Amino acid sequence: MSQIGFNVPFLTGKETGYIAEAAKNLKLSGNGPFSKKCQSFFEAKIECKKALLTSSCTDALEMCAILLDIQPGDEVIMPSYTFVSTANAFVLRGATIVFCDSRADHPGIDESKIEELITPKTRAIVPVHYAGVACDMDVIMDIANRYNIFVVEDAAQAIDSYYKNQSLGSIGHLCTFSFHETKNIISGEGGLLSVNEEKFIERSEIIWEKGTNRSAFWRGEVDKYGWVDIGSSFLPSELTAAFLWAQLESMNEIQNNRINIWNRYYEGLQELRAFGVNLPYIPSYATNNGHMFYFVCNTGTERNQLLQYLKSNEIGAVFHYLSLHKSPYFEGLYSGNELINSDKYTERLIRLPFYYNLDTYDQTKVIDTVINFYRNSIERI
Ligand SMILES: *Cc1c(COP(=O)(O)O)cnc(C)c1O
Repeated sequence: MSQIGFNVPFLTGKETGYIAEAAKNLKLSGNGPFSKKCQSFFEAKIECKKALLTSSCTDALEMCAILLDIQPGDEVIMPSYTFVSTANAFVLRGATIVFCDSRADHPGIDESKIEELITPKTRAIVPVHYAGVACDMDVIMDIANRYNIFVVEDAAQAIDSYYKNQSLGSIGHLCTFSFHETKNIISGEGGLLSVNEEKFIERSEIIWEKGTNRSAFWRGEVDKYGWVDIGSSFLPSELTAAFLWAQLESMNEIQNNRINIWNRYYEGLQELRAFGVNLPYIPSYATNNGHMFYFVCNTGTERNQLLQYLKSNEIGAVFHYLSLHKSPYFEGLYSGNELINSDKYTERLIRLPFYYNLDTYDQTKVIDTVINFYRNSIERI
């Protein structure tokens, strides 16, 4: 019996050629020709004012916290059902994290519960586009504008996804993407900061280049470069950018293939509705970018039994986030309301194998195995 893994990175075949080219050019550090090509690509694709490659989405989030001048005691609102980096980036600057619940019908932040969490100390809202599905950005931007606070989109999973025809990553004041090997478009580790506010552009380059005005120097705008602000080394090497460029050239093909895989799961698993399972919901304002396929079981026990059953059939399904407000690090710090939906997804959400080279034979096996589990063990409703 062959194993079906959860994730297998996809290479287009051009990556190593471009890496060899970068090596031959003897331009290996960051912000070289491949980095610039990738950044121009994203500026056109996302329609943001500035795109900067970073070594990870985590780095891009840390840049956002610095750019917003987050100070100890400042409050930042975000969903609890997210990756640790969404919170860590702001915790590193002393922020107090205020967790908001997820929607009942989707793991994204419940935009109707944000406003009640705002205090005079609130500085930012960080919506996370879970599974690449847009949060309700009009509502979120309206709240942010009324209270004069910033919005940072954590679009780590949301490359090539849209909200009412606007590219995700172009709506919030600042946005971050990931090219980690588990995402749609990859470079091993990698990320992107997209800047949509004119006033952050200059400083974003400085923070990116260790707190120096080196980028302006290379453009000939200043005659020497030096230490002008705080910063770090957030830019990836040209080798990483060369790898990424190969992926970007094949973005349409990668995306079409992933969306086809998603559609096959969605159609193949319709029977689960009869067993009370919640298949993924995509609001009419959002698009599906084929990032992952998840569904929500009736109970935590059912989810765990299903995971076990799939494992015994050599299928690598996995659960996802553990609510951050109940994490070992944060538990003692959390003083807010119960987050019922966040807990629900922690206990009941399951993700199925999802990668470019998942062939229809293996995918059919996954679908049939899931359906068998329900037919044999769970009563229809
Ligand atoms: C993957 C992911 C991150 C972190 O991305 P890295 O590039 O690994 O730092 C952050 N937030 C979300 C929602 C993610 O899915």
